[in-house]
Formats: sequence, structure tokens, C-alpha cells
Amino acid sequence: MQRIYRIAVLPGDGIGPEVVEAAVGVLEAVQKIVSGLRLELIYGEAGYDCIEKYGTNLPEKTIDILKSTHACLKGPMTTPEDPGAPPSVAVTIRKMFNLYANVRPCKSLPGVWSLKPNIDLVIVRENTEGLYSGVEYEVSPGKGVALRIITREASERVARFAFRLAERRRRYLTCVHKRNILRITDGIFREAVFRVASEFPSIRVDEEHVDAMAMRLIKEPERFDVVVTTNLFGDILSDEAAQIVGGIGLAAGANIGDNYGMFEPVHGSAPKHAGKNRANPIATILAAKMMLEWLGEYEAARRIGDAVEAVLSEGRVRTYDLGGSATTRDMGNAIAEKILSQGA
Ligand code: NAD
Repeated sequence: MQRIYRIAVLPGDGIGPEVVEAAVGVLEAVQKIVSGLRLELIYGEAGYDCIEKYGTNLPEKTIDILKSTHACLKGPMTTPEDPGAPPSVAVTIRKMFNLYANVRPCKSLPGVWSLKPNIDLVIVRENTEGLYSGVEYEVSPGKGVALRIITREASERVARFAFRLAERRRRYLTCVHKRNILRITDGIFREAVFRVASEFPSIRVDEEHVDAMAMRLIKEPERFDVVVTTNLFGDILSDEAAQIVGGIGLAAGANIGDNYGMFEPVHGSAPKHAGKNRANPIATILAAKMMLEWLGEYEAARRIGDAVEAVLSEGRVRTYDLGGSATTRDMGNAIAEKILSQGA
């Protein structure tokens, strides 16, 4: 029997179209091997190039595509920085679809430099509020204020998600905050996490201040399992975590809500590498793997993960960030071919 999924594909801009094309090649390969799996890819426009054309970086037509699909594979997009410009597409989609948990795994991979050989942690970042609420004012010339909105409801919701994830892993959760300074907002967040902890008695719970956590990720990253934190802290810590296992070209993220999932690389549009066919597509390929896992297509997800690890451990195809000279397309093709040969 066929299992059909409608997938929105947003190639984005900068290096986005190149890394997304490589990931789509991998999805096509895995569909040839896993019987019954069928992905209907529906392409949508979004990102910097849309602003001039449509006056927005997320046109209505694309929002309609998102609403009509099971999940979204999203490439990176450039966010204009001037005040008044449209907000980040990723942030808009997260809020619009209430994708409240941003899941960013960080794992040592074979054949790739890693600070320690046995790192295996996941950062779960609250994805809808905090300093990404986008509420900022210039109260008087040269004096600005940003609102860091933290609610008990959103904090408990992401905490519950993180505890459920910890149940399927090593049963250890670290709550990261800065309550010693941000007593009200991080007081609410910390309290919510520890309240939810009582629903999960089998999980060991710990806490760290965010500055100490930044240090511990370098000193003893192998100690951590699931880390739950607020929006900005999670964004910063996950880039740091990506770097200790080989760099941002390998780091994937899932944005999960109760009814929709959006999957993307952690990195941005890296404009200086755009159009050069040299960016590493593995982050986007691993995002596609996370999407299949979320859809319940475990065999397809496992086959992508195995193929990525096989290509990395052989070490013959390496993009510039891994010390090689392979192109984006070379890497995508090597992983797709590995899936086909391992499935044959
Ligand atoms: P970036 O992640 O785009 O790039 C930083 C550096 O990381 C690059 O110069 C490059 O050296 C390296 N890098 C990133 N991706 C790589 C890959 N796949 N392979 C190899 N090396 C890679 O960060 P930035 O320069 O701060 O941001 C550029 C733009 O992207 C900004 O407009 C930013 O707002 C946007 N951005 C978008 C998203 C998103 O769409 N979710 C996320 C982060 C940043």
C-alpha cells in the first residue's frame, strides 16, 4: 500500500536552492528503495528575492501551499536587517503554525573532526516567544527596548516535548536559563520545566545558567542528553554545539508543532558561497531525514542516516568545510548513490 505525503519545498535563497536540490535528490533515491513511500513535492517561493517581486518574503500563495501539505522542507533564506523590513521567514512560519519546539541534534559523526568522540545531545529550543517575539521599540533616540516575552503555557509545552524526547533517549534533561539575572522571565521558564518534571519521574533533571552551559559544551559535551531552553539561548547554544561536532554545514533542525513540522538546516543562506556549488548539503539532507522520522517513515530516515555516515566515514567525498574540494552536487549524489547501493 502506498503512503503518500505532500511536502512543501521552499528552496530559499543564497546557498538554499543548491543544498535543497541535493536533499531532494536524496529523497528521490530513498523513495526508490523504501516500498510504498511516495512524497509529492510542491515547490513554493519564499525569501529575499520575493520582497521586490511580491512586497513580502512569504507570499500568500506559499502560505496556501504550506497549509495544504503534511510538512515542509525549507532552505535557508536571507533576512533583511533594516527596521521595517519583513521578519525572518523561519520565524514567521514557526509562529503561524505554532511550531513550538525547535529540535537541534548534535552528534559526533564518523570521519568528521569532533571535540570529543562520543557527543550525542539534542537542544530543544522554545520557538515561539522570548526575544524572538519581535517586539522592539526605540523609546527615545538612541534608547531601544526589546520585549522578552515568556509565558508559563509556552514554557510548559516545550518542556513536555523535551521530557518526552528524553524518555526515548538517556533520560537526562538539563534546563538552561539565566534566572539569577532574568528573575521574572527565566523564573517562569525554570519553574515550568521543574513543574512538568513531576510528570516524568524517570527523568533525571539538572539545570545550568546559560553562560556556564556555553563553557560546559566545550569542557564536557558528552555529559549532556536533552537540553531545554528559551529561544535566543537555544539559537546561540545550538550553533556552538554544531561547531563541536564538525561545523554548521552538518547541523539540522526540526520545528515541530501539534499539527505541522518544518525542517531546515541550522545554518543561514551563506551569501558569500551562493551559486558556487560548494556548500555542504548534509545539514539539509539530515533535515529531510528528521522530516521522514517525524512522518513515521523510520526505515527511510534510517537509510538516509546510514548513507550520510557511510559517505563521511569513507572520507572520499568532502566539501570545503570538511577539508575537501567536493561540490554540493558531488556530496548529494554520493549520498543518494549510497542509498541506492545499500538498498540494492
Ligand atoms: P550563515 O549560517 O548563513 O553563514 C555563516 C558561515 O557559515 C558561512 O559564511 C559559511 O562559512 C558557513 N556555512 C554556513 N552554511 C554552510 C554550509 N552548508 N556549508 C559550508 N559552510 C557553511 O550565517 P550568517 O552569515 O549569519 O547569515 C546569512 C543570512 O542567513 C542572514 O541573512 C541570516 O539572517 C540568514 N539566516 C537564515 C536562517 C534560516 O533561514 N533559518 C538561519 C540563520 C541565518
